Amino acid sequence: MKNIKKTDPAIYQLIRKEEKRQREVLEMIPSENYTSKAVMEALSTALTNKYSEGYPKKRYYQGNKVVDEIEIIAEERAKKLFGVPFANVQPYSGSPANSAVLMALLEPLKDKIMGLSLAYGGHLTHGSHVSFSGIYFKTVSYELGKDELLDYDAIEELALKEKPKLIICGFTAYPRTIDFKRFGQIADKVGAYLLADISHIAGLVAAGAHPSPVPYADIIMTTTHKTLRGPRGAILMVTEKGLKKDPDLPEKIDKAVFPGLQGGPHDNQTAAIAVALLEASKGSFKAYGKQIVANAKKLAQELIKYEFNLVSGGTDNHLILIDLANKNVNGAVAALALEVAGIVVNKNAVPEDSLPPFYPSGIRLGTPAITTRGMKEKEMIKIAQWINEAVSEVQNVHLPVSKEERKIYWKNFKKEVVKNRKLLQISMEVKSLTSKFPLP
Ligand SMILES: *Cc1c(COP(=O)(O)O)cnc(C)c1O
Repeated sequence: MKNIKKTDPAIYQLIRKEEKRQREVLEMIPSENYTSKAVMEALSTALTNKYSEGYPKKRYYQGNKVVDEIEIIAEERAKKLFGVPFANVQPYSGSPANSAVLMALLEPLKDKIMGLSLAYGGHLTHGSHVSFSGIYFKTVSYELGKDELLDYDAIEELALKEKPKLIICGFTAYPRTIDFKRFGQIADKVGAYLLADISHIAGLVAAGAHPSPVPYADIIMTTTHKTLRGPRGAILMVTEKGLKKDPDLPEKIDKAVFPGLQGGPHDNQTAAIAVALLEASKGSFKAYGKQIVANAKKLAQELIKYEFNLVSGGTDNHLILIDLANKNVNGAVAALALEVAGIVVNKNAVPEDSLPPFYPSGIRLGTPAITTRGMKEKEMIKIAQWINEAVSEVQNVHLPVSKEERKIYWKNFKKEVVKNRKLLQISMEVKSLTSKFPLP
């Protein structure tokens, strides 16, 4: 980075600082990962200089012969990896990709989306009232059952009553296997399209560590930067089933992405996606996906030994959601303490949460990034122990109910917690462990 260093020392220093942070901590936010060097290299190339509005061989600008080849390779690799007849690799990220699906299929203010409620682990773009998906479209949300699992009978009943035009499955905080077949049957029964948003689990699907939605969904969306280990971005796919239902789906999707919502695609991102898709097609990636799940299962098992209350009782995939109510601490306080200890997770609502989103009852953590570093079951035992020790340090820390008091308390708590001896000691031990597992 000698050029950034010379031109812009301030940004150079901050990038180095962030690299150091990523290297030294246990990165356990389940939507994050470390890309390969090859993906990074593709991102920082001359491709970022090009304008390519349109699609391969149908561009609005000259000079796109090379970019056409790159985008076609990315599309072909996506189609092959997931087993679908159509892919669009241009969406800037997951939210714009979901927006494109809504734009392609639904009439604003008239047609209805049915997705999992945000409070239960759905994504903002699945019909939340604060997002464009809930502002411009009619929406109805399903929730989880009493056992904190998807209640397919209740979902079917709701779909029959509400007659949505689009059903969305695939979530941000659901630790269990999704029954895509059942979702497909429900969608067929009510004549709805089924969108499988596999943003979180795409890498597991590619690795055969989670069932694929391909036989049952009409459209599949995935981000490329989560378990798939690519650059930030997204892919929209149409399945054989979707094509049979509506042969115009690919054209509708293409048009919604460009010119509907976006201008020129980020060609450097497209190249990096192509590289990531090639990496994900290798045998070693299958082993990687399986290890992510094995690590999450082991970590869950260990956390249960420390009497952590896991939502749904455990995990089948890469993520764990902990309800901290029995530990007498909320998710915001616990996440902050864990960060001081070098373990980076996020606060998260749990099903039927009685606390507000700013300081919800839970934390969400996952194994994709630490598995990329080569950590295995043995390390999970140690990590569970550290999590337990760190959370114990802040048990019984309660935020005042009044907003003003809470603000002051939180500010003081933040100042104090970074000086906590025990947490700092854990962070040194974490640093020692992470130094043995270099980043890609
Ligand atoms: C991450 C995610 C998205 C959105 O992706 P962004 O790239 O952050 O816009 C959409 N849906 C699900 C289920 C996700 O997990």
